[in-house]
Amino acid sequence: MESPHGIISKIERFAIHDGPGIRTLVFMKGCPLRCLWCSSPQTQNPFPEVLYDATKCQICGCCTDACPAEAMMLSDGEGVEIDRKLCTGCGECVEACPNEALECAGRYMTPEELVKEVMKDSSFYRRSDGGITIGGGEPTMQPEFVAEFLKKAQQQYVHTAIETCGYVDWKCLEKLLEHVDLVYLDIKHMDDLMHGKLTGVSNELILGNARKLSAVRLMIIRIPIVPGCNDSHENILNTAKFAADLGENVERVDLLPYHRLGVQTYRQLGREYSLEGVEPPNERTMQRLKEIVESCGVAAQIGG
Ligand code: SF4
Ligand code: SF4
Repeated sequence: MESPHGIISKIERFAIHDGPGIRTLVFMKGCPLRCLWCSSPQTQNPFPEVLYDATKCQICGCCTDACPAEAMMLSDGEGVEIDRKLCTGCGECVEACPNEALECAGRYMTPEELVKEVMKDSSFYRRSDGGITIGGGEPTMQPEFVAEFLKKAQQQYVHTAIETCGYVDWKCLEKLLEHVDLVYLDIKHMDDLMHGKLTGVSNELILGNARKLSAVRLMIIRIPIVPGCNDSHENILNTAKFAADLGENVERVDLLPYHRLGVQTYRQLGREYSLEGVEPPNERTMQRLKEIVESCGVAAQIGG
């Protein structure tokens, strides 16, 4: 039987976060949420997308000539316009550009190819008790591919972690868990209405899955701290109480300060960034929120 192909946004090597030891991080493409603060918008859609860096473009026209879908146009002295509806993600323009102004986010691989790629770092895993962490995007959107990849990684005695938004059918998540040692689960807001406004989906399924997960696997809860969105005393306290109720399998809560590193990527994708003007939380705020979590008897950490 042919192996399922997965679409991967990026592979990051030698990471010292997102799990114990030295890790290789695999970012899948495709996510069911649309968090306003998302710092990796190139991982949201489950298909290849072209990133265009206007600062490198010399407006030479090589890409428009190469595009078989006629999805690119030179706009008077301003650079290149991409019609995203026409673009097939073929990557011809990326090859044709002499100035590295174009990049393709998303490549298809088989689980075997991905295992081969990550196992290049196996000596680092062994020496540091590290492993691989698969996130995104949302890895559970490509369950067959991810299950096969994780199974193969575990067969080589590699520690595996998954990072999920939790918005997934339990049966699908449960299947993946067979091959997962540690789960990172994001909880973005305890209030369902606010959760909907900030992410585009209800939190009901996510909280339900958190309860089920805590019964079967070691987990770390992650809260992105986004000023004005979810950083209220009330929300952090409610999340911490929820985490405390989940019991001993919750190792800790990570509080991840909002940052603006992805803003440029929105421009490169030709998209608007909704949180213009929002600044990262300061250290005092992060410390105060950490103390709220700890006051509920749950270990907390600033950063991942
Ligand atoms: S990826 Fe292919 S279809 Fe899309 S703009 Fe580039 S050349 Fe055209
Ligand atoms: S080929 Fe590259 S440098 Fe030339 S117009 Fe296209 S993006 Fe700009």
